[in-house]
Amino acid sequence: MKIHNFSAGPSILPQEVMQQAAQAVKELDGSGLSLIEISHRSKAFVAVMEEACERALRLTGLEGKGYKALFLQGGASQQFLMAAYNLLEKKAGYINTGTWSTKAMKEAQLFGEVVEIASSKDHNFNYIPENYMVPSDLDYLHLTTNNTIFGTQFKEIPDTQVPLVADMSSDIFSRTWDYSKFDLFYAGAQKNMGPAGTTLVLVKEELLGKVSRSIPSMLDYAVQIKGGSMFNTPPVFAVYTSLLTMRWIEEQGGLEALGTKNSIKATHLYGEIDRNSKFTGFVATKDRSEMNATFNLTDPELAAPFDALCEKVGISGLKGHRSVGGYRASIYNALPMKSVETLVDCMQILENNH
Ligand SMILES: *Cc1c(COP(=O)(O)O)cnc(C)c1O
Repeated sequence: MKIHNFSAGPSILPQEVMQQAAQAVKELDGSGLSLIEISHRSKAFVAVMEEACERALRLTGLEGKGYKALFLQGGASQQFLMAAYNLLEKKAGYINTGTWSTKAMKEAQLFGEVVEIASSKDHNFNYIPENYMVPSDLDYLHLTTNNTIFGTQFKEIPDTQVPLVADMSSDIFSRTWDYSKFDLFYAGAQKNMGPAGTTLVLVKEELLGKVSRSIPSMLDYAVQIKGGSMFNTPPVFAVYTSLLTMRWIEEQGGLEALGTKNSIKATHLYGEIDRNSKFTGFVATKDRSEMNATFNLTDPELAAPFDALCEKVGISGLKGHRSVGGYRASIYNALPMKSVETLVDCMQILENNH
């Protein structure tokens, strides 16, 4: 049976990418050697890393604009502390939209004063805060562009005078945006780009070198830039697979084409959540994520029949995060429209049967 993979992360990757990655583990480009048994300093792998960095800059429209791309380890969680380590001298502002922002704030507090500029905690993070003041004396303002757990997403980039830092783990490469409004952004690969094990970081170089503390080499963006993301042995498989996904994105027509497809998928699913009397959405309509749709049954008694319907057609990974409950459909770039249609069918059958 074909499985419809709605997992929040690690999550679905394009079939083509999976096949090419599997092939490269057997043999990289006719070299007689596997991707995972050659030196990261070999010509073949250096070319992989260089192309991956170039493509990340190109996809985000940041080529020639003073940015560097890095593929690091430690996940997005390591960027919570690394961003603060490198940028926070006195005071930083955070917009708190849930679990991930809260964790980022906690790490930053080790390095300086952290101000919560706005929060949606009062309604269990079911909306994106608006109408807040951003002080001009911050070292940076940090936000999470898409909250994977609660299913909220920034639709507009806040206007600020201070450098803007963003965790884009769950919506990187999902839409066109003016990425140059961000001075530093990062994304763990395992949501919308590749397997777990690497984190893409895009950083404006002029932002660096301004804090007075000394920074351990591994956690210093400047050191990582100088080493071309190879200060130590990089996660070769995760970087290579991320590169394959970026090639795939370009073949799909780039971020504009993917953004359109993602909107169509999200509109179809949210349309059914709104129409169907058995379901209710979790998030304020205007802030709904096009990557993670969270919803609940209006009658909890229907959980068993709905879960059975989903299981029968091969729907996997739909269970909501424990802090929200209900369901979460992660509809990342690689999830086909067919999977969304299959889910919507199950929702309609449930309504007709009860
Ligand atoms: C998954 C996720 C993280 C955590 O990523 P790790 O790579 O596991 O550290 C952080 N932020 C967001 C928005 C996420 O979705």
